[in-house]
Amino acid sequence: MNEEENQKEIVRRLARGKELVWINPDLSEEGTADMQEQLGKEDILDAQRRLERFAPLIEHCFPETADRHGLIESELTEITAMKNACKDIYGPREGKGIPGRMFLKKDSHLPIAGSIKARGGIYEVLKYTEELAEEQGMLNREENYRKLAEPEFRKFFGQYTIQVGSTGNLGLSIGIISAALGYHVIVHMSADAKQWKKDLLREHGVEVREYADDYSEAVKNGRACSDADPKSYFIDDENSKALFLGYAVAAGRLAEQLTAQKICVDKSHPMFVYIPCGVGGAPGGIAFGLKELFGSNVHCFFVEPTQAPCMLLGMATGQQNEISVKDIGLSGVTHADGLAVGRPSGFVGKMMKQRLSGIFTVQDAALYEYMRKMLDEEGIFLEPSACAGFEGPVQLLQYTETKAYLEKYQIMEHLSDATHIVWATGGSLVPEEMREIYQNTYL
Ligand SMILES: *Cc1c(COP(=O)(O)O)cnc(C)c1O
Repeated sequence: MNEEENQKEIVRRLARGKELVWINPDLSEEGTADMQEQLGKEDILDAQRRLERFAPLIEHCFPETADRHGLIESELTEITAMKNACKDIYGPREGKGIPGRMFLKKDSHLPIAGSIKARGGIYEVLKYTEELAEEQGMLNREENYRKLAEPEFRKFFGQYTIQVGSTGNLGLSIGIISAALGYHVIVHMSADAKQWKKDLLREHGVEVREYADDYSEAVKNGRACSDADPKSYFIDDENSKALFLGYAVAAGRLAEQLTAQKICVDKSHPMFVYIPCGVGGAPGGIAFGLKELFGSNVHCFFVEPTQAPCMLLGMATGQQNEISVKDIGLSGVTHADGLAVGRPSGFVGKMMKQRLSGIFTVQDAALYEYMRKMLDEEGIFLEPSACAGFEGPVQLLQYTETKAYLEKYQIMEHLSDATHIVWATGGSLVPEEMREIYQNTYL
């Protein structure tokens, strides 16, 4: 098949709404410093240093970050019981199990926001805060940033508004940090957003506006409201480089954790990372950071719901954000509320063109099965969206396409020395009554 036929075929298969895998034909070893966007290692280091400057302030405002002295980071935990359970229940059909070791990156338990959004969302608000305070001559970079919690600063930030459109978790992250610093903050919530997230935000003093339509509509309205107010800053989940770089910092932190746990990543010890994808910022930023550090020894896969595979559709057709899942007859509706996005970030799609290995799609029903298994086997609660990553290791040896990928890059013979990282993206803030509802949901 030529490229055009391949594209038509993948669109036809996506439109059927069955789970599948897409292997990125443009993956290339040269995908280091990006020519077009001019983003590279130095930008990630700059973000990392900014988070370090803010650490004393974060530790002061959020005492739960004290054990890491104000750095917002999550654990990397080996999940052998879950790995074995995946073998028993979901295959591989050859009965050999998932070769290598399996770890959970617990962004589900990140402090402050309880989801992966605590990385990018909080970072962008801090970056804006530093710019504002520096512009006014109120702050220099050698000072202890803890002073930003003092009343004169809160009063100053109170003149400014921060706005964001969200399916829920980004709103939580931006809302909580912005309110803590004294900003007026408006979160524009899409119809998918859960009531408890809106309630929690209002408890923090955040203004929540609700829309009957999907995520794109909430973003559109948020942007329009913000543009109309000269003292308002809009956090643009679809195009923000700051958000993207905030996520990318995760890579260096993961590298340190791997070293501390004596886990080797090289040509004969490949690493696979599986990250749930919505609009693309979070998984894109992390994959970008990982490729900068580990190059061709890391294989980054995204996972999307079968009804909302927006990044897959955008990348496979090359139409990026000019195509929506609704254009091919999919509903965009999914129980995975954090992934309920119909149109991807075009910026991220381009950044991933040479870096991403591929994308799996997963049925909602499987998310609840993974969720229950994680609770039974490991005693860890994750929200349904956050379980999408499990589809990766479970299906890696099931699809002809992924097997061909492993052959092509000569990874097959190293699989028993592989490290699989399932990126858990949310769950620790989910209230008890919602957890029970999730646990009793069978589709
Ligand atoms: C937002 C989110 C994602 C995906 O991040 P995007 O930047 O939207 O791709 C994954 N899981 C959860 C729980 C999320 O909230």
